[in-house]
Amino acid sequence: MTSEHAEIPQTQQRNADNTPVAGKPVPGIDTEALTKAVNDGFDATLSSLKDLVAIPGIAWASFDPAELDRSAEAVATLVRETGMDDVRILRVPKTDGTPGGPAVVARRPARDGKPTILLYAHHDVQPPGDGALWKSEPFVAEERGDRLYGRGAADDKAGIMAHLAAYAAASKVLGEDFGLGVTFFFEGEEEAGSPTFRRFLEEHRELLRSDIIVVADSSNWKVGVPALTTSLRGLVDGTFEVRVLDHAVHSGMFGGPVLDAPTLLSRLIATLHDEHGNVAVAGLVGRDEVEVDVEESDYRADASVLDGVQLAGSGTIASRLWTKPALSIIGIDAPSVDVASNTLIPAARAKFSMRLAPGQDPEAAMTALREHVESHAPFGAKVTFTPGEQGNAFATDTSSAAAQVALWALAESWGVKPVEMGIGGSIPFIADLTEAYPEVQILVTGVEDPDSRAHSANESLHIGDFRHAVLAEALMLARLNVQGLQG
Ligand SMILES: [Zn+2]
Repeated sequence: MTSEHAEIPQTQQRNADNTPVAGKPVPGIDTEALTKAVNDGFDATLSSLKDLVAIPGIAWASFDPAELDRSAEAVATLVRETGMDDVRILRVPKTDGTPGGPAVVARRPARDGKPTILLYAHHDVQPPGDGALWKSEPFVAEERGDRLYGRGAADDKAGIMAHLAAYAAASKVLGEDFGLGVTFFFEGEEEAGSPTFRRFLEEHRELLRSDIIVVADSSNWKVGVPALTTSLRGLVDGTFEVRVLDHAVHSGMFGGPVLDAPTLLSRLIATLHDEHGNVAVAGLVGRDEVEVDVEESDYRADASVLDGVQLAGSGTIASRLWTKPALSIIGIDAPSVDVASNTLIPAARAKFSMRLAPGQDPEAAMTALREHVESHAPFGAKVTFTPGEQGNAFATDTSSAAAQVALWALAESWGVKPVEMGIGGSIPFIADLTEAYPEVQILVTGVEDPDSRAHSANESLHIGDFRHAVLAEALMLARLNVQGLQG
């Protein structure tokens, strides 16, 4: 069957404003042959993706683990079809002794002193959620317009298929010259919070060792405009408690000379931001420069900000989302309104969640927040600060050889200059990867776009951009094969 989907034309590369993308032809890279190989294999790629979408492999305890195993088996079969022979399904136990999600790992060793690239994606998916919100069956891939709908069609089964199809195209075109080491690592529990990721890395450190890691689990800027995700924020959380009385007392008999704990906790919380809404904790890292900005109207719509509510903080919206800290109170312990009695409340507690800018040491951020909270104890109230979890931020050195190759490949494939974008959230396993392999160059790419609705009803993949993502990665493999990590 011939493809109904527009093939990638082999024309001159152009920017979004229709100026040609500045980029010299790279000796040894046959873009035309790689484009043809990707186009020739694309129907099969899309059909394999549809087969994967049909398997509801969910790594949550309340779902059937047999489906997750079936998902791993199906992925392993697809990996074998690319010609990799040593394909394994591996898992390590969780701390409670139950098995972790099945990961599919395959490795083809590097030859002739070439580097090794590890291609990461995950085959487990989010639960479908409320079936009534879906326009088609979540586990039956359906093409509508230029998109493919289904749970995992984008996040992250398309990431798996992009890796496999890019590898297949590169193998076909490069043939015997293909000496780059390639490792596939398809995790089976990412949507459940990667509970065994760290132990998995410890157990299989040598098997997974590489020079470059491509994490295909993020988004492009918008349909038709590729992006490299160059920063992710870190995170610290914990609680602080304000205690003012030894026990609750009658608010009429004693109210007036002393303020209750919820009032004092509120006053303490109010010191966390200045009058403009910037985080007021001294000593935190944050910066303003970002390559692109987010439209205020888009932000308001996406975040569902009510009309009339003013935005907080200063600087560009993108810097407030990606390269500055953000501090939220995500829970408060105090008597609930339904059971409130007329007493002065002796103690109240808040849980905080603070997003950290790239370059911020989480330990230092936790200490800065502790010092702020302890030194702003209102009216001499007893304040107890209890640190919780912490995770590192991530920033790509875009001058690194690997990042330069990735930016070149994205431009070459889309014909549009890629955006270097941040993500306000965190991908916790990336911190685990940098800890396990401090020297490795990590590239965060993706197949999603802002309309992909990963995790929500009607998740979808833009088929045209998916084809570009496959070609971009094939170009990356080809270029790294030619030049290694020399810039
Ligand atoms: Zn994902």
